[in-house]
Amino acid sequence: MSAENVKVVCRVRPLNDKEKGEGGIICVKVPEEKTIQLLDGGKKSAGDDRTFVFDRTFDWNCTQRQVYDFAARPIIESVLRGFNGTVLAYGQTSSGKTHTMQGVIEDQEQRGIIPRMVNTIFEGVDAADEHIEFTVKVAILEIYMEKIRDLLDPSKDNLKVHEDKVHGIYVGDITEEYVTCEQDVFDIMRIGQENRSVAATNMNAHSSRSHLVFILSISQRNLHDLSVKVGKLYLVDLAGSEKVAKTGAAGSTLDEAKMINKSLSALGNVINALTDPKTSHVPYRDSKLTRILQESLGGNSKTCLIITASPSSYNEAETLSTLRFGWRAK
Ligand code: ADP
Ligand code: MG
Repeated sequence: MSAENVKVVCRVRPLNDKEKGEGGIICVKVPEEKTIQLLDGGKKSAGDDRTFVFDRTFDWNCTQRQVYDFAARPIIESVLRGFNGTVLAYGQTSSGKTHTMQGVIEDQEQRGIIPRMVNTIFEGVDAADEHIEFTVKVAILEIYMEKIRDLLDPSKDNLKVHEDKVHGIYVGDITEEYVTCEQDVFDIMRIGQENRSVAATNMNAHSSRSHLVFILSISQRNLHDLSVKVGKLYLVDLAGSEKVAKTGAAGSTLDEAKMINKSLSALGNVINALTDPKTSHVPYRDSKLTRILQESLGGNSKTCLIITASPSSYNEAETLSTLRFGWRAK
């Protein structure tokens, strides 16, 4: 399998007010567009292990459009040609995953990857020949404690993954909504968001402990020869990657942390296996997430892993761990 189809991109957000207020200093540097350095408390960087190279590195001056153009546009173009694609955001809580994937939908400049992809899809629909008939469907699900919940019908809170020769791998009984324009998708995203928060006592804590998976499937039927081309797109806002403090965490918090850790390392192992030419076994079955993504990671599918990080010296340890995850994936 070719590593060409897997890209790893790193994005560092601006210092936030809290970090500034508490006197945090910037501890990362993006010297050029593929490199990132973690600085050692203002001292000289301590050796090569703190300099990382990715397909692209973005600092706090980058725009949503720049990230989209590099990380997501090639993927949606491939999906419109009938292949599958995946974009994932990985990083500690509050490092910018949701800003990158979703952003501010109503704001042309601040909208993130999902609304931009949706826009590109319907541009493709409008520009296509008359004899191409498009069908676009949306599903939104959440994986929490290794259980798959349908965010468009939260009564379905333990969906199963199935596999057969006709359909390949799929989530059984998942709700799929047909959409015909951008606004349809945004309305459905709002419903998914509301359903997600209904069950959660603390939405911020909940969203950082579950994976959000947004699925768009685009089918194109050629009315001349009746051929059908289907591309599926998976857009994933992962659970926060932060380590739970060894002391203090107990009971359900610790169980949640173990599950998150297990599924994020399963994801890392899969991406690593895909980019390592020596590996023949890809361990998709080790988590629900990698199982769901199986047909859109690897093969002809294009994948972009976006790792997000805070620039603050307060988060240095987590940033180092995030950079190592991204580096290992490459
Ligand atoms: P996460 O989803 O990783 O927990 P968020 O995307 O919610 O983090 O980001 C945390 C806060 O930082 C939000 O208020 C968000 O708007 C802001 N933020 C994140 N990335 C950026 C960025 N690149 N530029 C400006 N603000 C950002
Ligand atoms: Mg988030």
